[in-house]
Amino acid sequence: MDRVWREVVLFGLVALLSGLFGMPAAAAPIAASQTCHAAADSGETDDALRRAPDRWICRDSEYDIGSASLFLLYRLTDPVQPRAQSLVTHASPFAAITIRVVDERGAVRVARFAPAAVRHLVTGPMMVLPLPQTPARPRLVTARIDGPWNKTIASEARLDSATEGTGWDISVVVAMAMICGMLIVPLLLNFGFYLVLRRPFVLWHIVMVGLMLVQTVIGTGFIHIAANLDAATEIAINSLCFSAVAASGLMFMVTFLEPEALSPYLRRLIVGSTPLVLAGGVFTTLPIEALRPWSALGIYAAILFAIVLILCGLADAWRRGSRLVLFLLVGWAPTLTVGVYRIGCYLLPHARPTESVVVFQLALAAEVLTNSLGIVIRFLELRRERDLANARATELEGVAGRDALTGLWNRHSIERRFNDLFQLGYRTMAVIDLDHFKRINDRHGHSVGDSVLKVVASVLAEDGDACAIRMGGEEFLLLLRGPGAADRAERCRRAVSTRLAAAVPGLGHVVTASMGLVEHDLSGTLDVEFAVLYSHCDRLLYEAKRLGRNRTMRERLTGFTPDFQTRTA
Ligand code: GH3
Ligand code: MG
Ligand code: MG
Repeated sequence: MDRVWREVVLFGLVALLSGLFGMPAAAAPIAASQTCHAAADSGETDDALRRAPDRWICRDSEYDIGSASLFLLYRLTDPVQPRAQSLVTHASPFAAITIRVVDERGAVRVARFAPAAVRHLVTGPMMVLPLPQTPARPRLVTARIDGPWNKTIASEARLDSATEGTGWDISVVVAMAMICGMLIVPLLLNFGFYLVLRRPFVLWHIVMVGLMLVQTVIGTGFIHIAANLDAATEIAINSLCFSAVAASGLMFMVTFLEPEALSPYLRRLIVGSTPLVLAGGVFTTLPIEALRPWSALGIYAAILFAIVLILCGLADAWRRGSRLVLFLLVGWAPTLTVGVYRIGCYLLPHARPTESVVVFQLALAAEVLTNSLGIVIRFLELRRERDLANARATELEGVAGRDALTGLWNRHSIERRFNDLFQLGYRTMAVIDLDHFKRINDRHGHSVGDSVLKVVASVLAEDGDACAIRMGGEEFLLLLRGPGAADRAERCRRAVSTRLAAAVPGLGHVVTASMGLVEHDLSGTLDVEFAVLYSHCDRLLYEAKRLGRNRTMRERLTGFTPDFQTRTA
């Protein structure tokens, strides 16, 4: 069933993405003959910077977002390349972007874009800025990014031959859509598990996967199918999601592993650190200009901190012989690796900052699949434990709650269960006592007396809609429900004599029983105490004994007040 469901989701997503928002046709990134970048202060103009060639860095690294603006320069000298039509870059916050194009004949055109003016792709986390049109082919393109918040706005930038920009290849889009579908399945599955087994680790996994789904929908650009968010909002939601995924991942680890798999100290440390991890994500979302150059460090520091905690936890669990840690090790290894790689590339000045969205999402998918497998196994294990514990409890209760001689419930059992049984409709109570039982013991011996008690128990246990209890000695109690309860009890009382005559030969006389019976009106009050009903029956039994034994005295109770319809059977 789940399989079918998943196929439907995947098919729907793929059809939606590829059908409605198809890829721009015949467009490709343009390889510029030279790409350089330079940092500039707020007062500096394009011309001033072009006159200072030593300030340009022509490597795909060392992007500096600490200054007010960042310049990107593309020299286009290859006549075979298609004409450049747009600038495509990672959807990342900025204050303004000014694009200046110089064409082959020296004509200059300039266009300026505010964040609201750029178009976001749905086939990748990218935004598109069309180049201003020049009469001839562009020869030199410079983009001045004012107030860049993230290095990837420069490192992921490229020229494109389509005005509307080129996103991911269709195969990548399909893969990403599949990952979205894959995240929905464990989400539903875990929800089902949680309904059956309310364990915190299932809940943390639901939170983690749910946030991953949100993060994937934003990180892939798919969000733009439904909503037109600007880059700043996207990065804010994404950072919050990232830190929350890390924090819930830590909580998942702590609750998923066996209780003895982590030292109590480490467990407390991890749980206590989760607010710090969340704080890192919040720091990145703060729209304070002074924090701009360090903004991304908030989320990276938080993730790095979470990774260190996770590694400590995994190592400790491994050292302590945890079996479940294997699922986390296998599941998290790819994500941790890509995470460390991304952070390293951002922090090391000579590395190229990258988002590695595709690899990262694939790693997440691997993680969710492995963890889900772990959860299924842990779920089955816990359920087995629970069933075992239940069986043991029932067994213990069975031994403690039953009378050793007859196997019937004892007085303790019925006192404990009376309220439940009463609510279930067992409202007729009969107390049955053998007449002159002492004589049987005296004449035939104790063991014959025991046999008599066993036969009586078997007679009383025959009614499927009655509970038979041995209250002690030769006194039994019947709790009945259903039509004709009082008459059925009376039949039982009479059957005792006939059955005993057949089953215990040589008794020499007919053994009879007396009975006190109370019917409780269904329309009456629901709350009756066992002791109250029992004392009524006991009084009626005493009455039956007094009137000559081998008879039943019965009463009907309505609410709390007996209406004294007492009669002799
Ligand atoms: P009545 O008609 O007034 O009920 O008289 P009775 O003899 O049935 O009642 P009484 O309470 O005088 O005697 C009950 C006897 O039941 C006394 C006790 O020795 C005997 N008894 C109690 N438990 C057991 C048991 O487990 N096995 C046997 N064989 N006898 C038991
Ligand atoms: Mg008796
Ligand atoms: Mg008795």
